[in-house]
Amino acid sequence: MDRNDIQVVVFDGRPADPRLREWMNTFPHRQYASHIAPKGYPDLVAMQRNRVCRWFLDRTKLDYLLLLDSDMIPIEATEPIKTAEAPIAGCCYIQNGGVIGHEEDGALSAGCLRISRTALEAIETPWFDWELTKDGCGVQACDCGHFCARAREAGYFPKTVGRIDHAMLMRVSINDDDTFRTSLLHEDSHGKK
Ligand SMILES: [Zn+2]
Repeated sequence: MDRNDIQVVVFDGRPADPRLREWMNTFPHRQYASHIAPKGYPDLVAMQRNRVCRWFLDRTKLDYLLLLDSDMIPIEATEPIKTAEAPIAGCCYIQNGGVIGHEEDGALSAGCLRISRTALEAIETPWFDWELTKDGCGVQACDCGHFCARAREAGYFPKTVGRIDHAMLMRVSINDDDTFRTSLLHEDSHGKK
């Protein structure tokens, strides 16, 4: 396979990083999610991902869909995503919470995720969903965790094939002794399987 078989879609709720746009331009088939999924539910990213998957199956004839979040920054180690022979492949990255998310264990993060048409057709919908705990007060599985669990059930084992950088916002605080410390904004609940 090569980049001619891949439909790239970037989730541009926020403007896509310029380095990502440049990388995206190396693919003949590229699109922004805002041109596919109706706007109005910017916080429902799982639903937007599902709408893009539906659009890919119904409106394209390509073999692979590559999903990218707008704050992903492709690097040299991201290149295998273009050619790796796997039905479900992705690149791991540091999550907003400051830890590597899903990595090399049959789970992948949705920020840089490639899915074959065959796998999408076989995996039970909704492909992406946030699962809450039974009391509704916590998160059981993030949208990518849900997807990978459904994929494994369908017999597809998500494969980590590279790495990608992630643009994140920092908070910088001054300590009492005038030194400083940094922390990441937007702690999130990704990182679970
Ligand atoms: Zn996740």
